[in-house]
Amino acid sequence: MIYDVAVIGAGMAGASMAAELAPHARVLLLEAEDAPGYHATGRSAAFWEETYGGPGVVPLTLASGTYLQENGFLTPRGALYVGRSEDSAAMDAHVATFAGTGVTIERLSPEALADKVPHIRSEWTEALHQPACADIDVAGLHQHYLGAARRLGVDIACRARVAGITRADGVWTITGERGETWRAAAIVNAAGAWADHIAALAGVRPVGIAPFRRTVAVLRVEPQAPADLPLVLDINGGFYFKPDAGRLWLSPHDEIPSEPCDAAPEEIDVAIAIDRFVAVTDWRIAAVERRWAGLRSFAPDRLPVYGFDPEADGFFWFAGQGGFGIQTAPAAARLGAQVLLGQGADAITARIDPAVYAPDRLKSRAEAISA
Ligand SMILES: Cc1cc2nc3c(=O)[nH]c(=O)nc-3n(C[C@H](O)[C@H](O)[C@H](O)COP(=O)(O)OP(=O)(O)OC[C@H]3O[C@@H](n4cnc5c(N)ncnc54)[C@H](O)[C@@H]3O)c2cc1C
Repeated sequence: MIYDVAVIGAGMAGASMAAELAPHARVLLLEAEDAPGYHATGRSAAFWEETYGGPGVVPLTLASGTYLQENGFLTPRGALYVGRSEDSAAMDAHVATFAGTGVTIERLSPEALADKVPHIRSEWTEALHQPACADIDVAGLHQHYLGAARRLGVDIACRARVAGITRADGVWTITGERGETWRAAAIVNAAGAWADHIAALAGVRPVGIAPFRRTVAVLRVEPQAPADLPLVLDINGGFYFKPDAGRLWLSPHDEIPSEPCDAAPEEIDVAIAIDRFVAVTDWRIAAVERRWAGLRSFAPDRLPVYGFDPEADGFFWFAGQGGFGIQTAPAAARLGAQVLLGQGADAITARIDPAVYAPDRLKSRAEAISA
């Protein structure tokens, strides 16, 4: 059998793309691990934050927000970017960066900040409030897409690590590491940290997707973190924390270059996170109960890459979802499917320019550099 599309990788990117393609095409979804969601998708901090990823990502985030809200995947949280008096210019720059993008940012007084974040140290006086920020039910959203894909006839194969890809007569032949073969007219490369590796297997020039490790530690603090604490982010990118089931999820906002791998947290990054946390609050840390790390994968310009490779027929990039691959998933997958199928925009994608995310931009840059 020749599938219309083989999607490689069943994290949030591949699952959502498979579900969006399924009404229009015969789709195969291939996942290397025993179950989908083991890598970045299963390790996220689970927030939807309007400015996260920068202005170029805002259209995808806002367009996804409506879908996530309507389908019950969001729980209001609110976000606060915080700083000290010397960070006033950084606060202004954050507001200016997102002016006119449609996001809501309000300046808060020091008193209002102290009210929203108990135990914040008195020198932290600057705050920007982003009221729309919400928690995302990541597992629910991932299962929503996997379930839709199954119902719509997508064949899903786990323990199916792709090891070879060749193309002849307009058809890709994909070989699994245990010798299985599948055939498809088009490939969607949704392999997260392994996206460049998949391109190389197919003889396609990589676009430069680079994985970076990010760490999260789960703290038990005394007194217990209130459930309505906002997501609190350092305006200078040194930490964020948010409550979850009476605990605090804390990240040092690390971005350590990594090979594609099963990422594990390093003690030093947990220590850095705690060091920064005690500089911003006087909460007593009773225990570090859990920690994990995952890979966030970026293109060189930190925008995602959606579209057909300009140099390889039938090879579609759906990669570089960085730190925003969950919150942008609904609009990204709808857009990706429309571009792949040659369909026009709909209500979700009407305000998104697909050219901004096309892989051509990265290929022409590589040519310019090598010239
Ligand atoms: C600590 C952390 C916090 C984050 N917080 C947030 C957040 O709050 N909000 C947000 O929106 N985003 C967040 N992110 C980012 C988000 O998790 C990612 O952008 C998203 O999960 C990427 O999804 P993906 O499907 O591209 O990658 P993955 O989930 O990594 O999926 C890629 C899949 O491809 C498979 N694969 C690889 N190679 C092969 C092969 N050869 N054959 C078959 N399958 C293969 C892998 O096994 C994997 O399952 C966070 C990430 C981390 C690490």
